[in-house]
This record gives sequence, C-alpha cells and structure tokens, in this order.
Amino acid sequence: MSEITVQLDHIFKSYDGTVRALNGLSLTVFSNEILGLIGPNGAGKTTSIKILVGLLQADAGKVTVLGQDIELDPVSYKAQIGYMPEAPSLPDYLTASEFLGYVARIRNVPKDQIKDKVNKFMKDLDLGSKTNELISTLSKGMRAKLAFAAATIHDPKLIILDEPLIGIDPAGQHLLKERLTAIAQRGGSVLVSTHQLDTAERLCTKVAIIHHGKNVATGDLAALRQQAHAGAGQSLEEIFLKLTEEAGQPEPEVPRRRGFFSRRR
Ligand code: ATP
Repeated sequence: MSEITVQLDHIFKSYDGTVRALNGLSLTVFSNEILGLIGPNGAGKTTSIKILVGLLQADAGKVTVLGQDIELDPVSYKAQIGYMPEAPSLPDYLTASEFLGYVARIRNVPKDQIKDKVNKFMKDLDLGSKTNELISTLSKGMRAKLAFAAATIHDPKLIILDEPLIGIDPAGQHLLKERLTAIAQRGGSVLVSTHQLDTAERLCTKVAIIHHGKNVATGDLAALRQQAHAGAGQSLEEIFLKLTEEAGQPEPEVPRRRGFFSRRR
C-alpha cells in the first residue's frame, strides 16, 4: 500500500521579505510515485525543492518528509533522501570514481560494496571510460550523469531532482528515466521538476502544476484533463497552458519594510 513520503502543508516563503516565492503551497508525494513538478519560470519549483532538502527554511507552514517534521529534526531524514540540484557543483579536482567513492562512504554504503557499486554506476551511465579522469575534464552531460549517480548511490527512499535531464543525451535520458521508474516500482518516491512536458507526461505517474507559488492542480493526466475540462486528445502542454491561464495573476508582492530613515507619507 502506498504511503505519504512528502507533505508540504501551506508553505510560505519570501526572499528579502519582498519577493513572495511560495504562497501557501501544499503538495503530497506518495511511495511508488514519480511526481513531476511543472510550472512557468519563477513559479516556485526550485524554492519548494530547496526547502525540502533543507537548503532554505520556510517562513510558515509544515514540511514532513518520511514521517519526520523537518523543522524539529533537520538532519536525520537526509540520510534517506537523494538530491540532484539544478546546477550541480562537483569537485573538479577529484576523478569521477574518487568522487563517487567519497559520496558512497559519507552516505554509509557498506565498505565492501563501494568499489563494485561505483564501477557499476560508471558503466551503466556510460562513464566507464572516464573513471579515472578528473571531473574538470568531463562534458556537461557527463557531469549531470555523475551528479545523478551521486544522488542515488545509497539507494534513497526518496529522490528529489531539479531539472535533471538538461544537457544529457537521449540515451542517458532514457537510462535516467528507467532508473527513476525502477526506484518508484521498488516502493520509493521520486519528485522531479521539469519543463519538458512530454517527458513529464511519459515518465511521471502524477504531475503537480505550480503557479505563483501555489499548487493549482495535481493528478494523473486523466484527472488534470478533467480539471481543465479538456478533451481526451489534449496533451499535457495544452492542459498546462489552460490551467495556468485560469489560475491568473499573482497576488501583490509583500510590501517592502520602510527603512529607518524613510519618511512616513
Ligand atoms: P524556473 O522554472 O525559472 O527555474 P522556479 O519555478 O524554480 O523557476 P524559483 O527559482 O523557486 O522558481 O523562484 C521563485 C521566485 O523566487 C521567483 O520570483 C524568483 O525570482 C525568486 N527567487 C528565487 N531565488 C531567489 C533569491 N535567492 N533571491 C531573491 N529572489 C529569489
């Protein structure tokens, strides 16, 4: 039976007290699920993801990951999640296999399994010939695949990926999608933000449409189609455009606090 793995409950987040990035966003992810986060630029996808992985703190609302309130215990849940950021920053001065071995060690992969696991990941991701090359010499797509390997080498229960397919060739994208599907089928959860709606349509079991810091619709394609009053033949792209248009304009930004010397009008 599927269980809740991620619960974002009425999350608010502003930057500098003025830019309202999240405006009461609620979202639930279940086990056995690949949930796609889609939304226009600036909708709040990356901000939500950064709150989930502990890189940002919400201003208000409750975040529960794998049964834990992350504000009460901001550390232990991280052992069970994997995270691939939008622009992974990797240590250029290590070789690809040194880096993966290092990640495996700090992620508590059993010592006697590390070598085999690193070799298998390198081979499966078509990085076998780059094992002993410095990361600084890898192409953008190779670095992205290495970041994916680092996010999944410890078999996390929940994997969170921010635009993971950018720069990866079709064969690599196919492999990543297969891996994500296998993780969900084994009972794990995947939360993935993407602008590639055709990929979301094929890869994700459900999609959440984020707009102006709110979740305007969540469901499988049939449910979204129903919500958008769309016809059977309409694509996710058409549904997305309809629902985001219906969701309308953002609420006004949070007013900037007056400076100490600013005059009252
Ligand atoms: P994209 O699809 O373009 O990656 P996104 O949905 O991931 O967008 P966010 O990156 O979460 O959106 O941004 C949400 C809002 O917060 C935007 O208005 C953005 O300009 C703002 N924002 C994001 N990061 C910061 C920051 N560090 N400082 C100030 N404003 C920020």
